Amino acid sequence: MPSSLAALADDASSTTPSTAEATTPRPASRRDRPTTLYDLTPAQLEEQVTALGEPAYRAAQVLNWTYDKRINSYGEMANIPASLRAKLTDTLPFATMVLERDAVTDNGDTAKMLYRTFDGQYVETVLMLYRDRATVCVSCQVGCAVGCAFCATGIGGLMRNLTAGEMVQQTVDAARRAGELGRPLTNLVMMGMGEPLQNYADTMRFIGIIHDPRAMNFGARRITISTSGIVPRIDALALEPYQVNLAVSLHAPNDELRSRLVPINRRYPVAELMAACDRYIAATGRRISFEYALMNGINNSDEIARELGRLLHGRLCHVNIIPFNPVEMLDFERPDPAGIERFAEILRSIGIPTTVRYSRGVEIAAACGQLRAQHEREQTAVQTAVQTAVQTAVQASPVIPLAHVS
Ligand code: SAH
Ligand code: SF4
Repeated sequence: MPSSLAALADDASSTTPSTAEATTPRPASRRDRPTTLYDLTPAQLEEQVTALGEPAYRAAQVLNWTYDKRINSYGEMANIPASLRAKLTDTLPFATMVLERDAVTDNGDTAKMLYRTFDGQYVETVLMLYRDRATVCVSCQVGCAVGCAFCATGIGGLMRNLTAGEMVQQTVDAARRAGELGRPLTNLVMMGMGEPLQNYADTMRFIGIIHDPRAMNFGARRITISTSGIVPRIDALALEPYQVNLAVSLHAPNDELRSRLVPINRRYPVAELMAACDRYIAATGRRISFEYALMNGINNSDEIARELGRLLHGRLCHVNIIPFNPVEMLDFERPDPAGIERFAEILRSIGIPTTVRYSRGVEIAAACGQLRAQHEREQTAVQTAVQTAVQTAVQASPVIPLAHVS
């Protein structure tokens, strides 16, 4: 939970920060982001451990504690000598993100975690339990530069990329949480905050670490990367050694509409995006999922459904319809259930495999970027209240001129 009102009042009385400064501290530059245990590949950890004068097998023990036992600190690594634990603590922080909030809904089947990073940014992760699988939805950026018209994450632009270690932490924490409920973590989707293909290097590094059999040993085929359509990076992804799944957020079948909803379309229009998808399918032999956020009166007419069907016809693909998740401050609405089903049926009648996927955790703002936005609004509200209280007190005081606290 946010700091208490009293703590905020203390801060406010000393500096009275502006609301913007108080709620969104400046993100740390890449150079200033610490390298943590979760940032290292197993090979790098081995190098680090031997550089500290310890035998290489200690690295394997550390990895076992970190990824198999999923402990939370060096202090819990019982068979690691205290001297090495101390050296590691001094040279390699274990993890840097702190859990700020967590919210559970859907009868305990959806948990949303809100983290605070070391530089005061907020990051969301969602864990969803289904009958046959447990899926974590990982964030790769704080905010997003793409700025889709319907997405809470894009509203404030991009604050910064997350490091590979920050993504690994989200995943290990989710696996621990699922494990505590007696469930193995089986799937991972990069559908949280941010555009993974605009944080390409760290996203690939993250996948490399969790996929490594000496680390988390998470199967690449159980990982899905979702993109708004960064064409050159789709081509790059096709050449990567990992057999991950690709989801492309299409949302519209033509440039006129898609450029309004997904602004990156002006740079990589539909025809170029489709050509990149075809190259990806040819190179990998893997099916692409097209995501389609369905918004009433925007992209849900019968005609648009048929146009979408014609666009995708003959391609090795699947359409996931995501009925629009309401976002405060945005005016879009979700079509009614019959309208959603009708849109899906038109696609199916054209031979496009189509699934309707309702977002989990709507009441805990589990859609992309919403809990962070809500948290920041609440902080703003609290701080505005504190500032108003301080200023009122100051105005009422005959001895302290207002200028001294502004
Ligand atoms: N940046 C990537 C991945 C994160 S968003 C991308 O855009 O693909 C994950 C998915 O949620 C995307 O398909 C995105 O378009 C969709 N989405 C975002 N906000 C939504 C909302 N309010 N309702 C429904 N889907 C939404
Ligand atoms: Fe960014 Fe994806 Fe949201 Fe678009 S939908 S703003 S690409 S996170």
